[in-house]
Amino acid sequence: MIQVIEHIRELDPMNRNLRENGRTIGFVPTMGALHEGHLSLIKNSIENNDATVVSIFVNPTQFNDQNDLLNYPRTLDDDLKLLNTLKCDIVFVPSVKEMYPEKDTRVFNFGTLDKIMEGKHRPGHFIGVAQIVSKFFNIIQPDKAYFGQKDFQQLAIIKKLVTDYNYPVEIIPCPIIRENDGLAMSSRNRLLSSEQRKHATLISQALFNAQKMAGINSVQNVIDYVVSTINNDPLLETEYFEIVDSNQLLPVKSWDEPSFKVGCVAVKIGEIRLIDNINFIL
Ligand code: AMP
Repeated sequence: MIQVIEHIRELDPMNRNLRENGRTIGFVPTMGALHEGHLSLIKNSIENNDATVVSIFVNPTQFNDQNDLLNYPRTLDDDLKLLNTLKCDIVFVPSVKEMYPEKDTRVFNFGTLDKIMEGKHRPGHFIGVAQIVSKFFNIIQPDKAYFGQKDFQQLAIIKKLVTDYNYPVEIIPCPIIRENDGLAMSSRNRLLSSEQRKHATLISQALFNAQKMAGINSVQNVIDYVVSTINNDPLLETEYFEIVDSNQLLPVKSWDEPSFKVGCVAVKIGEIRLIDNINFIL
Protein backbone atom coordinates (compact mmCIF):
# COMPACT_ATOMS: atom_id res chain seq x y z
CA MET A 1 0.00 0.00 0.00
CA ILE A 2 1.16 3.49 -0.80
CA GLN A 3 1.90 5.71 2.19
CA VAL A 4 -0.26 8.82 2.29
CA ILE A 5 1.55 11.71 3.95
CA GLU A 6 0.01 15.08 4.76
CA HIS A 7 2.75 16.78 6.78
CA ILE A 8 6.27 17.84 5.91
CA ARG A 9 7.48 16.66 9.35
CA GLU A 10 6.39 13.08 8.52
CA LEU A 11 8.15 13.23 5.18
CA ASP A 12 11.50 14.38 6.58
CA PRO A 13 12.59 11.24 8.50
CA MET A 14 11.34 8.99 5.71
CA ASN A 15 13.33 10.95 3.21
CA ARG A 16 16.46 10.87 5.33
CA ASN A 17 16.05 7.14 5.81
CA LEU A 18 15.75 6.59 2.06
CA ARG A 19 18.80 8.72 1.35
CA GLU A 20 20.96 7.21 4.10
CA ASN A 21 20.50 3.86 2.48
CA GLY A 22 21.74 5.38 -0.79
CA ARG A 23 18.43 4.96 -2.55
CA THR A 24 17.50 7.32 -5.36
CA ILE A 25 14.24 9.25 -5.18
CA GLY A 26 12.08 10.07 -8.19
CA PHE A 27 9.46 12.78 -7.79
CA VAL A 28 6.29 13.44 -9.79
CA PRO A 29 4.39 16.63 -8.89
CA THR A 30 0.70 16.64 -9.89
CA MET A 31 -2.52 18.45 -9.13
CA GLY A 32 -4.45 15.17 -9.01
CA ALA A 33 -7.47 13.98 -11.03
CA LEU A 34 -4.93 11.48 -12.28
CA HIS A 35 -5.04 10.04 -15.80
CA GLU A 36 -2.75 7.98 -18.05
CA GLY A 37 -0.61 11.06 -18.73
CA HIS A 38 0.28 11.32 -15.04
CA LEU A 39 0.69 7.55 -14.78
CA SER A 40 3.26 7.54 -17.60
CA LEU A 41 5.42 9.93 -15.56
CA ILE A 42 4.98 7.85 -12.41
CA LYS A 43 5.81 4.58 -14.22
CA ASN A 44 8.94 6.20 -15.67
CA SER A 45 10.00 7.25 -12.16
CA ILE A 46 9.30 3.81 -10.67
CA GLU A 47 11.40 2.16 -13.38
CA ASN A 48 14.37 4.46 -12.90
CA ASN A 49 14.52 5.13 -9.16
CA ASP A 50 14.55 3.12 -5.94
CA ALA A 51 11.64 5.10 -4.49
CA THR A 52 8.95 7.30 -6.04
CA VAL A 53 7.17 10.19 -4.37
CA VAL A 54 4.05 11.63 -6.02
CA SER A 55 2.51 14.86 -4.81
CA ILE A 56 -1.13 15.79 -5.24
CA PHE A 57 -1.67 19.46 -4.52
CA VAL A 58 -3.88 21.97 -6.30
CA ASN A 59 -1.55 24.93 -5.92
CA PRO A 60 -3.58 28.13 -5.43
CA THR A 61 -0.69 30.50 -6.24
CA GLN A 62 -0.51 29.34 -9.87
CA PHE A 63 -4.20 30.08 -10.59
CA ASN A 64 -4.84 33.54 -11.98
CA ASP A 65 -8.55 32.72 -12.35
CA GLN A 66 -10.35 31.96 -9.05
CA ASN A 67 -13.19 30.14 -10.84
CA ASP A 68 -10.66 27.82 -12.47
CA LEU A 69 -9.21 27.07 -9.01
CA LEU A 70 -12.69 26.49 -7.57
CA ASN A 71 -13.78 24.19 -10.40
CA TYR A 72 -10.52 22.28 -10.73
CA PRO A 73 -11.40 18.55 -10.45
CA ARG A 74 -10.50 16.95 -7.11
CA THR A 75 -10.78 13.14 -7.02
CA LEU A 76 -8.45 12.06 -4.22
CA ASP A 77 -10.12 8.68 -3.48
CA ASP A 78 -9.92 7.59 -7.12
CA ASP A 79 -6.37 8.93 -7.37
CA LEU A 80 -5.25 6.82 -4.40
CA LYS A 81 -6.88 3.72 -5.90
CA LEU A 82 -4.97 4.32 -9.14
CA LEU A 83 -1.69 4.90 -7.33
CA ASN A 84 -2.18 1.66 -5.42
CA THR A 85 -2.16 -0.24 -8.72
CA LEU A 86 1.44 0.95 -9.19
CA LYS A 87 4.56 0.33 -7.08
CA CYS A 88 4.58 3.92 -5.92
CA ASP A 89 5.98 4.48 -2.40
CA ILE A 90 4.69 7.77 -1.08
CA VAL A 91 1.94 10.20 -2.01
CA PHE A 92 2.28 13.63 -0.45
CA VAL A 93 -1.08 15.40 -0.09
CA PRO A 94 -0.43 18.56 1.92
CA SER A 95 -2.99 21.24 2.78
CA VAL A 96 -2.61 24.80 1.50
CA LYS A 97 -1.62 25.85 5.05
CA GLU A 98 1.08 23.19 5.16
CA MET A 99 2.68 24.46 1.96
CA TYR A 100 2.05 28.16 2.58
CA PRO A 101 2.16 28.81 6.35
CA GLU A 102 2.93 32.37 5.28
CA LYS A 103 2.21 34.23 2.06
CA ASP A 104 4.94 33.39 -0.45
CA THR A 105 6.24 36.70 -1.74
CA ARG A 106 9.11 35.30 -3.81
CA VAL A 107 9.34 36.42 -7.41
CA PHE A 108 11.41 34.78 -10.12
CA ASN A 109 12.95 36.14 -13.29
CA PHE A 110 12.56 33.82 -16.25
CA GLY A 111 13.86 36.25 -18.89
CA THR A 112 11.96 35.76 -22.15
CA LEU A 113 10.48 32.42 -21.11
CA ASP A 114 7.33 33.70 -19.42
CA LYS A 115 6.64 36.70 -21.60
CA ILE A 116 4.46 34.87 -24.13
CA MET A 117 1.82 32.13 -24.31
CA GLU A 118 0.83 30.85 -20.84
CA GLY A 119 2.96 33.51 -19.13
CA LYS A 120 1.28 36.29 -21.06
CA HIS A 121 -2.27 34.96 -20.83
CA ARG A 122 -2.08 33.76 -17.21
CA PRO A 123 -0.28 36.57 -15.35
CA GLY A 124 1.62 35.27 -12.32
CA HIS A 125 1.03 31.63 -13.27
CA PHE A 126 4.69 30.66 -13.58
CA ILE A 127 5.68 32.53 -10.42
CA GLY A 128 3.17 30.27 -8.63
CA VAL A 129 4.54 27.18 -10.39
CA ALA A 130 8.11 28.10 -9.39
CA GLN A 131 7.03 28.80 -5.81
CA ILE A 132 5.47 25.40 -5.31
CA VAL A 133 8.00 23.36 -7.29
CA SER A 134 10.94 24.97 -5.45
CA LYS A 135 9.25 24.18 -2.12
CA PHE A 136 8.75 20.56 -3.21
CA PHE A 137 12.37 20.27 -4.36
CA ASN A 138 13.55 21.58 -0.97
CA ILE A 139 11.27 19.24 0.97
CA ILE A 140 11.60 16.06 -1.08
CA GLN A 141 15.13 16.53 -2.46
CA PRO A 142 14.58 14.17 -5.37
CA ASP A 143 17.36 12.87 -7.59
CA LYS A 144 15.08 13.04 -10.61
CA ALA A 145 11.82 14.92 -11.21
CA TYR A 146 9.37 14.09 -14.00
CA PHE A 147 7.44 16.68 -16.02
CA GLY A 148 5.18 16.25 -19.05
CA GLN A 149 5.89 17.87 -22.41
CA LYS A 150 2.18 18.60 -22.54
CA ASP A 151 3.06 21.69 -20.47
CA PHE A 152 5.94 22.61 -22.74
CA GLN A 153 6.48 26.12 -21.44
CA GLN A 154 6.31 24.90 -17.84
CA LEU A 155 9.09 22.43 -18.60
CA ALA A 156 11.31 25.25 -19.93
CA ILE A 157 10.57 27.31 -16.79
CA ILE A 158 11.41 24.40 -14.47
CA LYS A 159 14.70 23.75 -16.29
CA LYS A 160 15.61 27.42 -15.82
CA LEU A 161 14.62 27.30 -12.15
CA VAL A 162 16.91 24.30 -11.63
CA THR A 163 19.80 25.99 -13.47
CA ASP A 164 19.39 29.37 -11.73
CA TYR A 165 19.09 27.94 -8.21
CA ASN A 166 21.44 24.96 -8.69
CA TYR A 167 18.90 22.41 -7.54
CA PRO A 168 20.69 19.04 -7.53
CA VAL A 169 17.88 17.37 -9.46
CA GLU A 170 17.70 15.97 -12.97
CA ILE A 171 14.59 17.06 -14.89
CA ILE A 172 13.15 14.26 -17.01
CA PRO A 173 10.78 15.39 -19.80
CA CYS A 174 8.05 12.87 -20.67
CA PRO A 175 6.05 12.67 -23.95
CA ILE A 176 2.42 13.77 -24.28
CA ILE A 177 -0.09 10.96 -23.74
CA ARG A 178 -3.22 11.29 -25.88
CA GLU A 179 -6.72 9.81 -26.02
CA ASN A 180 -7.45 7.51 -28.98
CA ASP A 181 -8.82 10.42 -31.01
CA GLY A 182 -5.69 12.51 -30.34
CA LEU A 183 -6.94 14.81 -27.59
CA ALA A 184 -4.09 15.41 -25.12
CA MET A 185 -5.04 13.91 -21.77
CA SER A 186 -5.77 16.53 -19.14
CA SER A 187 -7.50 16.66 -15.77
CA ARG A 188 -9.63 19.48 -17.21
CA ASN A 189 -11.02 17.13 -19.90
CA ARG A 190 -13.30 15.79 -17.15
CA LEU A 191 -15.05 19.15 -17.08
CA LEU A 192 -16.09 18.92 -20.77
CA SER A 193 -19.70 18.03 -21.66
CA SER A 194 -20.01 15.14 -24.13
CA GLU A 195 -20.75 17.68 -26.87
CA GLN A 196 -17.68 19.78 -25.98
CA ARG A 197 -15.56 16.63 -25.74
CA LYS A 198 -16.45 15.72 -29.37
CA HIS A 199 -15.46 19.18 -30.61
CA ALA A 200 -12.21 19.16 -28.60
CA THR A 201 -10.80 16.51 -30.97
CA LEU A 202 -10.28 19.26 -33.53
CA ILE A 203 -7.48 20.82 -31.47
CA SER A 204 -5.04 17.94 -31.90
CA GLN A 205 -6.27 17.30 -35.47
CA ALA A 206 -5.33 20.87 -36.41
CA LEU A 207 -1.91 20.38 -34.79
CA PHE A 208 -1.29 17.08 -36.60
CA ASN A 209 -2.22 18.72 -39.93
CA ALA A 210 0.06 21.65 -39.09
CA GLN A 211 2.90 19.19 -38.57
CA LYS A 212 2.34 17.87 -42.12
CA MET A 213 2.18 21.41 -43.55
CA ALA A 214 5.44 22.56 -41.91
CA GLY A 215 8.28 23.24 -44.35
CA ILE A 216 5.89 23.16 -47.32
CA ASN A 217 3.84 26.15 -46.19
CA SER A 218 5.25 29.28 -44.53
CA VAL A 219 5.25 29.58 -40.73
CA GLN A 220 2.58 32.29 -40.98
CA ASN A 221 0.37 30.11 -43.22
CA VAL A 222 0.58 27.25 -40.74
CA ILE A 223 -0.32 29.62 -37.88
CA ASP A 224 -3.27 30.99 -39.88
CA TYR A 225 -4.41 27.46 -40.71
CA VAL A 226 -4.45 26.30 -37.07
CA VAL A 227 -6.15 29.44 -35.75
CA SER A 228 -8.85 29.53 -38.46
CA THR A 229 -9.51 25.77 -38.31
CA ILE A 230 -10.06 25.88 -34.56
CA ASN A 231 -12.01 29.16 -34.61
CA ASN A 232 -14.30 27.88 -37.36
CA ASP A 233 -15.70 25.43 -34.85
CA PRO A 234 -18.60 27.14 -33.06
CA LEU A 235 -17.58 25.78 -29.63
CA LEU A 236 -13.84 26.52 -29.81
CA GLU A 237 -11.85 29.72 -29.56
CA THR A 238 -8.08 29.97 -29.88
CA GLU A 239 -6.44 32.07 -27.16
CA TYR A 240 -3.05 31.80 -28.86
CA PHE A 241 -1.14 29.59 -31.24
CA GLU A 242 2.61 30.28 -31.44
CA ILE A 243 5.39 28.46 -33.20
CA VAL A 244 8.47 28.96 -31.02
CA ASP A 245 11.99 27.68 -30.65
CA SER A 246 12.17 25.14 -27.87
CA ASN A 247 15.02 26.83 -25.94
CA GLN A 248 14.16 30.51 -25.67
CA LEU A 249 10.46 30.12 -26.60
CA LEU A 250 10.80 33.01 -29.05
CA PRO A 251 8.46 33.00 -32.07
CA VAL A 252 10.16 31.61 -35.21
CA LYS A 253 9.66 33.39 -38.53
CA SER A 254 10.99 30.78 -40.93
CA TRP A 255 11.40 27.02 -41.02
CA ASP A 256 15.05 27.63 -42.02
CA GLU A 257 15.95 28.79 -38.51
CA PRO A 258 18.17 26.09 -37.01
CA SER A 259 16.22 25.68 -33.77
CA PHE A 260 13.96 22.81 -32.73
CA LYS A 261 10.44 24.20 -33.17
CA VAL A 262 7.23 23.65 -31.24
CA GLY A 263 3.69 24.85 -31.93
CA CYS A 264 1.82 25.65 -28.71
CA VAL A 265 -1.90 26.30 -28.50
CA ALA A 266 -4.43 27.33 -25.86
CA VAL A 267 -8.12 26.92 -26.63
CA LYS A 268 -11.24 27.93 -24.73
CA ILE A 269 -14.29 25.65 -24.83
CA GLY A 270 -16.92 27.49 -22.86
CA GLU A 271 -15.26 28.19 -19.52
CA ILE A 272 -12.73 25.39 -19.93
CA ARG A 273 -9.25 26.14 -21.16
CA LEU A 274 -7.10 23.42 -22.75
CA ILE A 275 -3.50 23.51 -23.94
CA ASP A 276 -1.60 21.26 -26.34
CA ASN A 277 1.52 21.37 -28.49
CA ILE A 278 3.24 19.63 -31.36
CA ASN A 279 6.87 19.49 -32.41
CA PHE A 280 8.04 20.30 -35.93
CA ILE A 281 10.92 18.12 -37.01
CA LEU A 282 11.82 19.03 -40.57
P1 AMP B 1 -1.01 18.53 -13.64
O1 AMP B 1 -1.63 17.59 -12.67
O2 AMP B 1 -1.91 18.91 -14.77
O3 AMP B 1 -0.32 19.69 -12.98
O4 AMP B 1 0.16 17.69 -14.34
C1 AMP B 1 1.17 17.08 -13.58
C2 AMP B 1 2.26 16.62 -14.52
O5 AMP B 1 1.71 15.70 -15.48
C3 AMP B 1 2.85 17.78 -15.35
O6 AMP B 1 4.26 17.58 -15.46
C4 AMP B 1 2.16 17.63 -16.68
O7 AMP B 1 2.91 18.13 -17.75
C5 AMP B 1 2.02 16.13 -16.78
N1 AMP B 1 0.95 15.78 -17.72
C6 AMP B 1 -0.33 16.21 -17.69
N2 AMP B 1 -1.02 15.71 -18.75
C7 AMP B 1 -0.14 14.98 -19.47
C8 AMP B 1 -0.23 14.23 -20.68
N3 AMP B 1 -1.38 14.14 -21.37
N4 AMP B 1 0.87 13.59 -21.12
C9 AMP B 1 2.03 13.68 -20.41
N5 AMP B 1 2.19 14.36 -19.28
C10 AMP B 1 1.12 15.01 -18.80
